[in-house]
Amino acid sequence: MRKKIVAGNWKMNKTFEEAEELITEIADGLDEMDLNDHGVILCPPALYLEMATDVAEESLFEVGAQNVYPADSGAFTGEISPLMLKKLNVGYCIVGHSERRKYFREDALFLKQKVDALLRNGVIPIFCCGETLPEREAGNHFRIVEDQLIASLFHLDAADFSKIIIAYEPVWAIGTGVNATKEQAQEMHAFIRERISGKYGVAIAQDLTILYGGSCNAKNSAELFSQPDVDGGLIGGASLKTEEFLQIVASL
Ligand code: PEP
Repeated sequence: MRKKIVAGNWKMNKTFEEAEELITEIADGLDEMDLNDHGVILCPPALYLEMATDVAEESLFEVGAQNVYPADSGAFTGEISPLMLKKLNVGYCIVGHSERRKYFREDALFLKQKVDALLRNGVIPIFCCGETLPEREAGNHFRIVEDQLIASLFHLDAADFSKIIIAYEPVWAIGTGVNATKEQAQEMHAFIRERISGKYGVAIAQDLTILYGGSCNAKNSAELFSQPDVDGGLIGGASLKTEEFLQIVASL
């Protein structure tokens, strides 16, 4: 059964005290809700992962990291490993976010290595894909997204592929206040599912969770999530406000 999920990507925001307050408030809010087997994943900055997993032990959300280095240990100053995440009970990790592709020049091969290293350690990648505005305007958005999937994911065997989560995040919608329309989101999610079906078969494609990300907020989430191939959202800015984030979860 395809799982519906809302994940919050906090990016580089919040002091420790603010993060603790936000996590506690979200945990309390989730306790009051009927989640219907829907998943909630919070991805705070790495420094706060231990605090988050401590709170998560008694709560209904799970914890994800925003980044990882594709080796279990070694001389990689400043990096954190998938083994470290696993040992902290961090169940998920964002891979391929457009900010990391752009500002840190992470390429498809590096992302592929991250995906492999995470899966080897039992941490689920939340794999982000999406086109820029010029790519969409040139009519290349389907090809760009397909290439991203092929280059970093389609080497996986079916057993590993079926564990991952995909997030379609058009770059032009991230942090801009301009979300994809429900039609644009549905069209791309259906395309992604169709490509996965071609490679891994209908059953795996139908079971895979595909999230939408990009200026998703409490006002537009219900409409976006109502689409048949949109299984929830990866939320940036709107995940930093307790009430708004809980409303988004409630709209699943
Ligand atoms: C994101 O960074 O993953 C994201 C979707 O950001 P925002 O919701 O702020 O557009």
